[in-house]
Amino acid sequence: MLNLVLFGPPGAGKGTQSQKLIEKYQLVHLSTGDILRNEIANGTELGLEAKKLMDQGILVPDHVVIGMISNKLDSNKDAKGFIFDGFPRTVAQAEALDALLASKNTAISGMVALEVDDDELQKRLLLRGKDSGRPDDANPEIIRRRIDEYNSKTAPVASFYKEQGKYHSINGIGSIDAIFAEITKVIGNF
Ligand code: AMP
Repeated sequence: MLNLVLFGPPGAGKGTQSQKLIEKYQLVHLSTGDILRNEIANGTELGLEAKKLMDQGILVPDHVVIGMISNKLDSNKDAKGFIFDGFPRTVAQAEALDALLASKNTAISGMVALEVDDDELQKRLLLRGKDSGRPDDANPEIIRRRIDEYNSKTAPVASFYKEQGKYHSINGIGSIDAIFAEITKVIGNF
């Protein structure tokens, strides 16, 4: 199985690259942000609770997203592999993911981190907000908080995979196709 963690701050291009990767490698795309937005759209209790935090740019509790991922792994038993996009976002989530995959006799193949500086992220997210309609893309203060959440809670996840020898980083500024080519090169060496 190919189980890839696509890592990087909000606006790094994880969603865009995931779309190209699922096509090339026939993987199941698991984006916790998309799953949460789907819950919101369906008006579920989980969605309503999560929305309060998401609209402020704050991470939702670990147990919520771990439960969602666990369900998705169970409902995709025949998958060739998974792309984890926007998950894990804390070390506790990374530990839980390792345990979930181990219980299914598989593991993370590697992490690819897209490196983009904060100024470029601010610009990209504000631009995206014009089309995405996402409330958390529309306001510079909320964007700042999402980047701060990333730096304080999510960045340590990179060390977690470094310690396992699974961390690879790529420059996330450039054309979509050039970045995609870099990612596929890294995956080829997993
Ligand atoms: P994203 O679409 O990945 O940028 O996620 C949008 C928002 O959903 C984040 O700002 C968080 O509030 C929430 N979220 C998504 N994934 C996670 C996660 N793995 N852990 C905690 N919160 C998450």
